[in-house]
Amino acid sequence: MAGIVNPLRIKSLQLWRATQQRLPRRCRLCEQLQVSPQNICNACVQQFPSAGSLCPVCAETLSSSQSDCQHCQAQAPAFAQTHVLWQWGWPLDQAIKRFKFGQDLALGKDLAAIFSKQLKQRLPSPPADAFVAMPMHKTRLRERGFNQAAVLASALAQAYQRPLLSTAKRIRETPAQSGLNRQQRLKNLKGAFAIESRLDGQHIAIVDDVMTTGSSAQVLSEALLDAGAASVEVYVLCKVT
Ligand SMILES: [Zn+2]
Ligand SMILES: [Zn+2]
Repeated sequence: MAGIVNPLRIKSLQLWRATQQRLPRRCRLCEQLQVSPQNICNACVQQFPSAGSLCPVCAETLSSSQSDCQHCQAQAPAFAQTHVLWQWGWPLDQAIKRFKFGQDLALGKDLAAIFSKQLKQRLPSPPADAFVAMPMHKTRLRERGFNQAAVLASALAQAYQRPLLSTAKRIRETPAQSGLNRQQRLKNLKGAFAIESRLDGQHIAIVDDVMTTGSSAQVLSEALLDAGAASVEVYVLCKVT
C-alpha cells in the first residue's frame, strides 16, 4: 500500500525511539551500563591518563630537576605553545584507535565534545582568532571518510565561537611516520602542506588528535607563519611520551 501512511505505525515508531533514548547504554570502552546517552562513560573519562609535566611550549617531558626545557633551548619550535589534555594510554588510546581506524565517528564526536568541554574549563577565553585542523591528504581522507583532527577542531571552533579555516591543505602524501625519529619526520614532511590564503596578523590554533615528536605541528606552523600568521599555538588531545 505505497503512499498510505499508517498513523498507528508512526506512533509505535515514535514510542520505540523514545524508549531507546531512555534505555541505559553500554560504555563503548568499559562495557558498563550507564544512564548517559554518551558512548564513553564518566568513569572512563576520569581514567584518561593525565598529561604529566610537559614543556608548555614544545610538550616534551620535563624532568623535575629541569627549570628550562632543553629541547626548546636547542631549537625553539615555530609554534608558541602546546596545550595537551592527556597522555597516550588506556583507555584513551582505545577510544582514539576506534575513532580513527575503526571509523567510529559517533565515538569520535563524543571524544571531541569531552575535549572541548575540558579545554574550555582550563582556558575559558578563545585561544586564537581561528582554528585549523591538521590537514589530511585527500587520498587518505577518501579511505577514512573523515579527518579526525577536523572533527576535534570543529568542536573547539564551535565551543569558542571562532572560525574553522579550511585553508591548510596536505598536498603531498607522506609515508607513515611511525618508526622515524624527529629529523627523519621533518625531512619526510618537507613541502607536505600548502596554505591557500593569506593569514596576515592572525593568531592561529592548530588542532590534532595525537602529538608524537611535534614534527607535523612544526612543519604546518612554518607554513602558517609563511602565510602571514602572527602566531601559532597547538591543541592536542594527547601526547605520546
Ligand atoms: Zn566506560
Ligand atoms: Zn620545550
